[in-house]
Amino acid sequence: MTSLLPPPVADTPELRTLRRDVRTFVAGQVAAGAFTPDVDTWLNGFDPAFSRALAEQGWLGMTIPTEYGGHGRTFLERFVVTEELLAAGAPVAAHWIADRQAAPSLLKFGTEEQKQRFLPRITRGELFWAIGMSEPDSGSDLASVRTRAVQVDGGWRLTGTKVWTSGAHHAHAFFALARSAPLDPAHRHDGLSQFIVMLDSPGVEIRPIHSMNGAHHFNEVHFEDVFVPDDLVMGEIGQGWHQVTSELSYERSGPERFLSSYQLLAALVDAPSTGADQQIGQYVARTAALHEMSNSVASALEHHHDVSSAAAVVKVLGTALEGDVADLGDVLTEDDPGDPQLRALVTRAVMHRPGFTLRGGTSEVLRGVIARELGLR
Ligand SMILES: Cc1cc2nc3c(=O)[nH]c(=O)nc-3n(C[C@H](O)[C@H](O)[C@H](O)COP(=O)(O)OP(=O)(O)OC[C@H]3O[C@@H](n4cnc5c(N)ncnc54)[C@H](O)[C@@H]3O)c2cc1C
Repeated sequence: MTSLLPPPVADTPELRTLRRDVRTFVAGQVAAGAFTPDVDTWLNGFDPAFSRALAEQGWLGMTIPTEYGGHGRTFLERFVVTEELLAAGAPVAAHWIADRQAAPSLLKFGTEEQKQRFLPRITRGELFWAIGMSEPDSGSDLASVRTRAVQVDGGWRLTGTKVWTSGAHHAHAFFALARSAPLDPAHRHDGLSQFIVMLDSPGVEIRPIHSMNGAHHFNEVHFEDVFVPDDLVMGEIGQGWHQVTSELSYERSGPERFLSSYQLLAALVDAPSTGADQQIGQYVARTAALHEMSNSVASALEHHHDVSSAAAVVKVLGTALEGDVADLGDVLTEDDPGDPQLRALVTRAVMHRPGFTLRGGTSEVLRGVIARELGLR
């Protein structure tokens, strides 16, 4: 285990001050009625005004260098801010993907022009991003994507369909993973490329997929001969697999992988005698351990270490905890609906529960990543 995870790091006095500042800000926002704390707010709490309020505090684009309009702060500082916002159940979905993975990917693989064009707007909370990886027949096995990119004069033409695209109906852009060269069965990861697709481009159709509670969160994004100019090619043609897997390290290791149902856990702690004190105590202990693990990955990201298997460990354990909290809330309120606020948190946690261990890579697939790292398969 120790070889999988980076060593733990403690909060410095400066980080503790930052934590206090975020808590004070968030308490002020709740008191002012800006939002009602909820579960799973990093994917479902869409509130552009709140994102802009965070931007005004300097809490978006924290790790983006100042020459690109960012704040040049550390991954540990960003960790503190994001952890506090998630623990408070704040609505951070609007900017989440842009801030979490589009920005670091652009910094790593984007052209100078792309960085200048997109990063300042991400920092100001004006540009929202989505994830264009999954397709109707390609989820875990991403190398099987069938969206085709064909080179034309001045750019590329994309045809195909992405699915389960969270928030595409609110987003301005996403990175689409597409096959830019015919599939070679012996080298399935070759011939894939990433393109920055502006979601208002001609030929892009965003079709809603309604969840079982009627909510519109997911979309199918269809491309019909969509033109992507050369200046929106992301990174290198043919390097899409390498780029996507690098992006997934940012996607899998953060505090959103163990805090999605934290508001419910906090409500269970506060609820009068549920009769499940031991179990609640265990979940609180698991949360504390995951805080240390996820924080240590943030520290490793700071030092540009490869965190793919450490991120997988955090995600497998963290999303299992999120689901367990939802299940416990469900069981404890089954016969006695209790406090309506608690019941509302349970209802939403149970509704979102199936997605916790699927989104960003399923637990089965991530266990495979961990096993490979340990040389077990
Ligand atoms: C809430 C939510 C939000 C999402 N948002 C986005 C988004 O914004 N953008 C995007 O691109 N995608 C998104 N997804 C899609 C998500 O990434 C996929 O659902 C996920 O990668 C699994 O793919 P799949 O659904 O096609 O399942 P499949 O890959 O078909 O898997 C089906 C089952 O088989 C198992 N399985 C598959 N391969 C293996 C293997 N090699 N070893 C062991 N077991 C295996 C899986 O664990 C799973 O249980 C989202 C999903 C959810 C639930």
